[in-house]
Amino acid sequence: MRRNLDPLLDAVKRLVAVQAEARALGLFVGDHELLTCLRCGLMEDVTFAGLLITCRPTALGEDTGLRFEELSAGKFHCPSCGAMVIEPPEEPARKTLRARKRKPRK
Ligand SMILES: [Zn+2]
Repeated sequence: MRRNLDPLLDAVKRLVAVQAEARALGLFVGDHELLTCLRCGLMEDVTFAGLLITCRPTALGEDTGLRFEELSAGKFHCPSCGAMVIEPPEEPARKTLRARKRKPRK
C-alpha cells in the first residue's frame, strides 16, 4: 500500500517546492483569498504578470512593497498598521452563477 502512494507523495513534495519557489519570486500561488485590511485599507492584488502586490484604494495597481504576514491559518498581520486581518471566506462566485442559471426566466 505504502509503495503505491510513493509517486503521489513525490509529486506533492515537488508541487510544494515549486509553490514555495513561486512565492519567493513574488508570484501569487492562490494559497489564500486576497486580503484587505479593514483598518487602513491596504489591499492585495495580482498583476497581469501574476505578481502579488499590495496597494491603496487611492492608487490601485501601484505596489507599496508591503506584504501581509501570515500569523496562523487564515490570520494575517497588516504590515502597514499592524491590525490583524482575517482571510475572507472563499469567493462564492461559482455558487452564485449556478444559482442564477437555475432561476426561471420571466
Ligand atoms: Zn492595515
